[in-house]
Amino acid sequence: MQALMMNTPLMISSILKHAEKNFPQVEMVSVTVDNPRHRQNFKTFARRSRQLANVLESLGAKFGDRIGTLAWNDYRHMELYYAVSGAGMICHTINPRLFPEQVAYIINHAEDKILFVDALVMPLIEALKEHLPKVETVVVLTDKAHMPESSLPNVLCYEELLEAQSDDYDWPEFDENTASGMCYTSGTTGNPKGVVYSHRSTLLHALSGALPDVTGASNLQTTLPVVPMFHVNAWGAPYAALMVGTKLVLPGPKMADGETLTDLMVSEEVTVTSGVPTIWMALLDYLESSNKTIPSLERVSVGGAACPRSIIERFRDQHNCTVVQGWGMTETSPLGTVFALKKGMEDYSTEQITDLQCLQGRGVFGIEMCIVDENNEELPWDGVASGALKVRGNWVAKGYYGLSDEPGSEDCPVDEKGWFQTGDVAAITPEGYLQITDRTKDVIKSGGEWISSIEIENAAVNHPDIAEAAVIGRYHPKWTERPLLIVVMQEGKSLSSEAVSDFLKDKLHKMAMPDGVEFIDELPHTATGKINKLALRETYQDYKFPAA
Ligand code: ADP
Repeated sequence: MQALMMNTPLMISSILKHAEKNFPQVEMVSVTVDNPRHRQNFKTFARRSRQLANVLESLGAKFGDRIGTLAWNDYRHMELYYAVSGAGMICHTINPRLFPEQVAYIINHAEDKILFVDALVMPLIEALKEHLPKVETVVVLTDKAHMPESSLPNVLCYEELLEAQSDDYDWPEFDENTASGMCYTSGTTGNPKGVVYSHRSTLLHALSGALPDVTGASNLQTTLPVVPMFHVNAWGAPYAALMVGTKLVLPGPKMADGETLTDLMVSEEVTVTSGVPTIWMALLDYLESSNKTIPSLERVSVGGAACPRSIIERFRDQHNCTVVQGWGMTETSPLGTVFALKKGMEDYSTEQITDLQCLQGRGVFGIEMCIVDENNEELPWDGVASGALKVRGNWVAKGYYGLSDEPGSEDCPVDEKGWFQTGDVAAITPEGYLQITDRTKDVIKSGGEWISSIEIENAAVNHPDIAEAAVIGRYHPKWTERPLLIVVMQEGKSLSSEAVSDFLKDKLHKMAMPDGVEFIDELPHTATGKINKLALRETYQDYKFPAA
């Protein structure tokens, strides 16, 4: 028997319509290049988003077209999130801080025809112009007074375009499984891969994210997502906030600036914030050196990399603030697990609670997880056994854009049993708390951004005196992880670590330069002849970088 319930498609535009009706006066405060403190409410936001949908149509954008954004966290980027997806196009957020070649690759691979670009990112687009043959229009996210000079043929001004359009627009309804957004992950080796979100996955993710034990988002909160909107949809905050009417404070290009962040948080009375550990380390240092506090702040969500215990303790002791660690990936939208206490833990000591906060949190409804051994046999949740972490659920990717989504095939991250293989190694406690212990994917995550170990290894072995090289990530107090290069010399040859660094200097991007070089007689190998990184990470478990 079929149920007798309505079946309304889960549309991103429905969040906007809900916010406009129910929370018209809730504010969205932004820092932009042209305004240090821009304010608008959700009603104005909804109106401008409809104008933007008309702009998109006037520029010739069609249903299913990919619209690229290279922008920081601010109200115009928010308008793009809602107008692009709401009108049936795909909001393709691009990280402007990637290497220029990667930015070009991503824009070309997604076939973005229109780019919406922050004025600060224009020099990058100018530099890439020869390499972006399919881009027809570039819209600069600013007003007429702040338009930069440009040598590009079709550069338009966002505010001018908006002004020229009516705010009369009916959001279309279509299949909820239609693509709504796209985000490339450079997490694995090889070219970046496009994760494609749907209206349905985005909505379900936002609903789950707004649960009390997940982000506890509500109309009573004010949130400041420091995590960039080009990084897995700022972990869903742009959607969850409008769903429940949370005031949004958006730091624009100032996300790593302790002073601006503090000033914004204090004056706008921010209660919750989210970002990678590196940001919090910098903010805590700034607060300490300037002798400031953020009295309104209650909760800091940390993810993207393991949260050092010191961050949890400093927020707790100096700012009376709870750190909530979560685990996720671009491919999981990103919500996977989030810290929350369970009943029965009321009597836990402060130290016991901190121990739990150092884990990656517990499963959110909608995400199933398991850990398996080498034979793909499920391991128990005993807090001891550790194995490859797999997940599945409605907001987990089943494939990458333009690659096979046949489970078990080489380009598909999903195995034959339908589980997404995360590339993380984890244990799970009997209470269900996840503990990431290692990574099988060969990458380093420094300050929330990926560095490919293979790129460094290839550069190193080009030195005639170096026989073999391996790179692993090791703990770094500021960046969470930095690359350590381990080198085997050709017989009879020797080099100093400075000489190795000198050799690499003009071959690698600054962020990819190893912070340490170690020499070893022989590298451990696996049965199949690959360098055994797990063994190397064990050998260099307590390694400390010279400068750290
Ligand atoms: P994001 O950085 O937004 O979480 P990415 O797709 O760039 O998304 O990176 C996902 C990877 O980052 C995970 O597979 C894991 O290796 C690492 N990661 C994310 N959160 C944590 C965490 N809390 N602790 C340890 N590693 C994490």
